[in-house]
Amino acid sequence: MSSEPRNLTIAEAQREMREGHLTSRELVSAVLERIASRQGEVGAFITVTADAALEAADAADARRRSGSERGPLDGIPVAIKDNLLVEGVRATAASKMLEGYVASYDATVIGRLRSAGAVLVGKTNLDEFAMGSSTENSGLGVTRNPHDLDRVPGGSSGGSAAAVADAQALAALGTDTGGSIRQPAAFCGVAGFKPTYGAVSRSGAIALASSLDQIGPFAKTARDAATVFATIAGHDPLDATSSKGNVAGDVADALARGADQLTIGIPREYLSGDLAPEVAKAFEEVRAKFESLGHKVVEVSLPHTNLSLACYYIIQPAEASSNLARYDGIRYAPPAGTGGSLDERYLHARGVGFGAETKRRIVLGTFVLSSGYYDAYYGKAQSARTLITRDFDEAFEKVDALLTPVTPTTAFKRGEKSSDPVAMYLSDIFTIPANLAGLPALALPAAPRGTEYAPDSMPIGFQIMAPKFADARVLRLGVQYEEA
Ligand code: GLN
Repeated sequence: MSSEPRNLTIAEAQREMREGHLTSRELVSAVLERIASRQGEVGAFITVTADAALEAADAADARRRSGSERGPLDGIPVAIKDNLLVEGVRATAASKMLEGYVASYDATVIGRLRSAGAVLVGKTNLDEFAMGSSTENSGLGVTRNPHDLDRVPGGSSGGSAAAVADAQALAALGTDTGGSIRQPAAFCGVAGFKPTYGAVSRSGAIALASSLDQIGPFAKTARDAATVFATIAGHDPLDATSSKGNVAGDVADALARGADQLTIGIPREYLSGDLAPEVAKAFEEVRAKFESLGHKVVEVSLPHTNLSLACYYIIQPAEASSNLARYDGIRYAPPAGTGGSLDERYLHARGVGFGAETKRRIVLGTFVLSSGYYDAYYGKAQSARTLITRDFDEAFEKVDALLTPVTPTTAFKRGEKSSDPVAMYLSDIFTIPANLAGLPALALPAAPRGTEYAPDSMPIGFQIMAPKFADARVLRLGVQYEEA
């Protein structure tokens, strides 16, 4: 492992800083240099806030000198997906519609990172309004997979995943509505965690599909992801869906305790079909490793898995079309969006402000919600969602956690799926069910940290899911795997 500061984990960097071998200014400077030298090729960022980051780093160093440091994230550089609001910094959601918008307040998760002393280095690229699986739907730039620049980083949080994989931040935040943290984490070879729905406040996240969206961390390790999660989790009166439970405390307890011997289920529906041979092989090795760690691994069935994609692509566009209705060209406007009649303004704003995928989802969502079709589509999708959720409830009567692949393939080539929306949608087939059921789900690289990926051997991830609010169990299993 290289001793370059930018290659450290959060835990390692914190130790170096505590022992006086490293300052936050040195660490943050190293990360900013890396961003500057790699932005042209990788394109992970939309906005870099270098001056504010160095100022925050100096403040962290001053706290450490005076013995008042704030805990595991103090002085650690973190990147933020550009659909989360950071006060005074532009927030675009990678949409031309929001190109000139500057956030007037901090999202709750941002406030929590700041209070913990984390240093925000910038805002990362994404698929427009977080709809996509490759970051190719961004209206504001291209992000490439740092391991092979001809391949996509995944999406929609492709910039956050690429930034962490390429040592341009020690951790990042993303959002996950149908897989947008876990799929890019798998494609870039980093840890990505989607918390239980309600575990992390969504206040200040630009809403996509409100019954599915969750904010969560990317990091080099599951242990670091747990640290970031514990910092951002917890009840927030500004989000009516946020839970009052002490998920963060559970994580600290679980990580301090040794690992339990659990029963882990592998849903047979996830292993059939179009799993690429290298993904199937890596998954077998992951299964064997969990067995060798003393867990009992059994087969289970989630019989309604085949409904997930269709169900998601009704509910998600329906909610997205409602949430995106606010971008009317008046309250938020793309450049040159003034003048003309009201109708002309709407048409101009939505015509030039939104990209093709966003328009597709709005049309689809508006259709499934329209009178006469509501029962046939939206109502049916809600019933299917209940069946999918019940499958998980029944499985969790027999097993403590589930183990699955994250994606059917490794990172695909740029342009390979951009003209075929359905092919693109299929890359989230294993991640969407956790959003429909609200479950915590972690994506972790199968290979050990420090593995050199080449164009012909791209990263492969696996996924751990558990019942709602068993976030600590998911993270504990991930930490056990990576530290074994
Ligand atoms: N790729 C999925 C979609 O396009 C999921 C996106 C997400 O999780 N934000 O909707």
